[in-house]
Amino acid sequence: MTSDLDWGGFRFDAHKACVVCTHILEGRPVVFVAHHADGDLQFLCDKQDHTEAEAAAVGLAHVLELHPSLKSIGYLPAGSMAALADGQWTICDIQEDD
Ligand SMILES: [Zn+2]
Repeated sequence: MTSDLDWGGFRFDAHKACVVCTHILEGRPVVFVAHHADGDLQFLCDKQDHTEAEAAAVGLAHVLELHPSLKSIGYLPAGSMAALADGQWTICDIQEDD
């Protein structure tokens, strides 16, 4: 049985695997969120140049539980990203080459 949750204007599986950095699991604030065109979600802190060793995959519900403020992000369509600056989320398109 799966459970769903609403976030970013979409309904996701609560256990949807998200790419995060280990820092946000340790409580560092999330300042970057990406909702890729293929549906992948990514949550990162403000550290530059994350390495592969700092990446982890966790369920979406867990990310939102650790960082409830992410619920205020509003509508985040696929193919867009959100960056936090001065307490405000700014949403823009992701430039993806493929
Ligand atoms: Zn980080």
